[in-house]
Amino acid sequence: MKLVIDNRTRYLNDYYFQTLCLLYFPGEKFKEGFESDNYASFFLEETAEHCITARVVLGMGERRAEGYFEGGYTPSIPMNDDFYAMNALGKAFLEAGRRLFGFGLPWGYITGLRPVKRAKYYLDRGYSPEEIITLFERDYEVTNEKSTLSVETALIQQKMLEDIGENDCGLYVSIPFCPTRCDYCSFVSYSNQRLFSLIPEYLEKLMKDIAETGEMIRRLGMRLRAIYIGGGTPSILDEHQINRLLGCINSNVDISGVEYSFEAGRPDTVTREKLLAVINNGVKRISINPQTTSDLVLRQIGRKHSAKQFFEAAEIANGIGFDCINADLIAGLPGDTELSFRQSLEDVIGLGFSNITVHTLSIKNAASMRFIGDGFYDPQGEFARESVEYARNRLKGAGYSPYYLYRQKNTVGNAENTGYTLPGKENLYNVLMMEEHSTVFACGAGSITKLVSPKRDDILRHAFPKYPFEYLSQDKGLGYDEAKAFFAKFRKDETN
Ligand code: SF4
Repeated sequence: MKLVIDNRTRYLNDYYFQTLCLLYFPGEKFKEGFESDNYASFFLEETAEHCITARVVLGMGERRAEGYFEGGYTPSIPMNDDFYAMNALGKAFLEAGRRLFGFGLPWGYITGLRPVKRAKYYLDRGYSPEEIITLFERDYEVTNEKSTLSVETALIQQKMLEDIGENDCGLYVSIPFCPTRCDYCSFVSYSNQRLFSLIPEYLEKLMKDIAETGEMIRRLGMRLRAIYIGGGTPSILDEHQINRLLGCINSNVDISGVEYSFEAGRPDTVTREKLLAVINNGVKRISINPQTTSDLVLRQIGRKHSAKQFFEAAEIANGIGFDCINADLIAGLPGDTELSFRQSLEDVIGLGFSNITVHTLSIKNAASMRFIGDGFYDPQGEFARESVEYARNRLKGAGYSPYYLYRQKNTVGNAENTGYTLPGKENLYNVLMMEEHSTVFACGAGSITKLVSPKRDDILRHAFPKYPFEYLSQDKGLGYDEAKAFFAKFRKDETN
């Protein structure tokens, strides 16, 4: 994408302008030499304190549209200096986008800001839900639907987190292997036979890390509240490997009263024996993810399982008696239609699953779908936007409420990912992690430990190597001393 920035203020960096562009142009690149018909130019100037002039021109091929904002603005609540530049630029950008594309963005010009975290921040400071909705709508140009969704989600989270203290934490265990690679996925996971041969060695190293992490949690005096085994596809492991992995977790951390989740993920990896191994080790929650129940769409997105395999896996899981089963769907998939999306939703509701997560297709650079060619997916995402709206209303009607929500860059239609739940079945791990509410220790390739300060104003991130080869050859775990030093900055009473 051709990008021209004339920023005469001291606010906002080039990266901010790029991320703003992605709201209307998901998946665009800003590298020199990258061929694209798309165009954006920005002009920004401060004429007096908090008085910003912004001019934005957006283009596609020969077509151009301009947006303009000038003058002062009084936000609903006091904001920092950056806000005034963001606001003027955002408003001019949205005006240009509406003129060029014929539609507005549901999340306004919000980028790089977690809407639910923001809503919770204001709730904690005594603002009413109505005031926060007005603030989102007026100051950030978020639609009433999305403002209300953010506040509703924040209110549920506030309740969920009431008894989560500053010493509470989560644990994430990563299995970055998948049976095959889906076209839309940019997740670093491994899906060929040569790499599958690494699994036994990977498990050994992972169990060593889990043991060290369990010891660290104990020495830091923290209390584990949620465990999530994710991927990739953890159910790629056979039942013996699952028994070993879960046995290792159970003997190294205190699982009493802990929310315990296992992502079965791909239906084609699910067997009765594996799910029995999962539940017999104390796991109460699993996820089985069809993304769609249309075989045609599954083929389009290179997801190598059938709808039948999903229904079979769901039947096994329902029969075994998990407390909570989640199914992920994706809105905006290529080849999907209003009819097939709605049918997918009816199918997962009909199975009685307690959690349904509706994602929106995100076009990542690494995903092979991005390179398939024009017209394969709808980058403007009208269908995705309509699908998430439909899902919200239909799920509400079926008794589900939104309990976590996040947005990603490069999402078609600028829509969001929302986790819905039946009453009392919320997944705590998702909220601790997505909202960066509590420390989450991570083990395994591609995972990231996040130590969160008691006031949640400081986070120390520690990433394990992305690739299993590197993970196996390096000893890069977070050390106890480093974790202790981080928390000691905030605690009067240090642990031993
Ligand atoms: S199963 Fe999930 S993690 Fe694995 S390739 Fe497909 S989308 Fe990516």
